[in-house]
Amino acid sequence: AGLSSWITRRAQRTPDAIALVDATTGVTTTYAQLAVNSARRAAALSARGVRRGDRVMLLGLNSTAQLETMFAVARLAAITVPVNFRLSAGEVAYLISDAAPTVLLHDDMFADLAAAAAEQAPRRLDVAHIDALDVPEEAFAPENPVHADDVAMLMYTSGTTGKPKGAMLTHGNFEWNAINMLVSGEGMTPRDKTLAVAPLFHIGGLSLYVLPLMYAGGTIVVAPAFDPAATLKLLEAHRITVHFMVPAMWDAMRRVPTFDDHDLSSLRTLLCGGAPCPIPVIDFYQGKGMTFMEGFGMTELAPAAIILEAEYVRSHAGSVGRPIFHDDVRIVDGDDKDVPTGEVGELLLAGPNVFAGYWGLPEVTAHDMRGGWFHSGDLARMDADGFITLVDRKKDMIVTGGENVYPIEVEQVLLQHPDVEDAAVIGLPDEKWGEGVTAVVSVRAEASVSADDLLAFCRDRIAHFKSPRRIEFLDVLPRNATGKLLKRTLREQFGSDGS
Ligand code: ATP
Ligand code: MG
Repeated sequence: AGLSSWITRRAQRTPDAIALVDATTGVTTTYAQLAVNSARRAAALSARGVRRGDRVMLLGLNSTAQLETMFAVARLAAITVPVNFRLSAGEVAYLISDAAPTVLLHDDMFADLAAAAAEQAPRRLDVAHIDALDVPEEAFAPENPVHADDVAMLMYTSGTTGKPKGAMLTHGNFEWNAINMLVSGEGMTPRDKTLAVAPLFHIGGLSLYVLPLMYAGGTIVVAPAFDPAATLKLLEAHRITVHFMVPAMWDAMRRVPTFDDHDLSSLRTLLCGGAPCPIPVIDFYQGKGMTFMEGFGMTELAPAAIILEAEYVRSHAGSVGRPIFHDDVRIVDGDDKDVPTGEVGELLLAGPNVFAGYWGLPEVTAHDMRGGWFHSGDLARMDADGFITLVDRKKDMIVTGGENVYPIEVEQVLLQHPDVEDAAVIGLPDEKWGEGVTAVVSVRAEASVSADDLLAFCRDRIAHFKSPRRIEFLDVLPRNATGKLLKRTLREQFGSDGS
């Protein structure tokens, strides 16, 4: 079992099938070569002292070397810790102190960040270039056997609501995520091709299409970083068939002026998730006749948990769909009692893709797994047919004058205003109302919309108590690497002077 065996078996069955394509150089790697390359990388890591259960931290742009290394680490039954390269040296140093890796591997681009982080870290570790393979060409590490519940990766959550937490994801979690992806949505075959352009350090970039498609024996075209126009060209040039991105990337891509000049007829499934998708983005791709599916996932779930299958994208627009094949879902109140159909409650999940716990945080794990169900911290409602609509995060819900307001609903309204580029809605302390609904908006370059215009726009579409009492303008809203709004930053920024 385990990630490494996927490659070994593919190399035996379809040795000449293309596993990886480097989008920059065009260099291809077959499954047979991938097995050899990862065995050699495993030998190099072993020579550096990496043993079963040790952590190997990765810092770099998306690359075929990263994917080869992940399978090499799995081959040693060690644990990969992919790290967000947009973090500061101090933040990477924090992750070093938390995960205690044996080795930190970096690429050309992030050599300085790796060195600076290692220097600030409280413990010593080996820092090396990902391609520094100080072993003979034919070096080959044997496969260390693993169990399904051995940890394969320590993936840090996005840190949207607080400090990132290390989610322990097992070999079994990744295997079940792959199986779930193969039997849900539009499925995948060895003839499928995906583009790895969302960051591989994030669970969506790594495990929505990339790992499942490697499990299925398909082809991964690896692009170092996202650029909307370049991505369109790659999708066309490589005849990509299945593709995942986060909403901000889909949004940026639809704004490329030459969008319609590209032949995207090879694309059969587009998947969007990780954050709420603005309605105009869904409308754009569906308006082009494309199968644009929404899904809900979390780092802790490896990540796919709920998916809106193609045949329902139109009839159930706005829903993230139904639980993925092997998952169960409940929606509960504050006492963990199921709420009636259609009512809002916390989303709980159970299934073979649910993580093994937070690294070093047994109390948080026990709390979030109470009763044997993973408590997502997200609010949702389910209709009579089992379709789930995500409402908001529990932590972001606003209580104003005794009424609950879900910021995402208000943001979706604001985002439909033609002059609005981006919008965040937060609750700020208010003497009279408890919390006041505040919108922070960035407007398009030539637009001149006023706060009053936006207020009127909202009041025409949603209840007055949900409409913002205060509107602030910012040039750019703070978002993290996965494009999620950093509402804690906004609450800090606007909380002090507001009333
Ligand atoms: P942290 O847990 O560190 O605060 P995070 O929760 O943003 O960060 P991730 O695991 O990357 O870290 O994201 C999972 C969260 O993303 C979910 O709990 C949910 O709030 C949000 N999310 C995922 N998919 C969707 C979706 N389709 N629509 C709306 N929100 C989504
Ligand atoms: Mg989270």
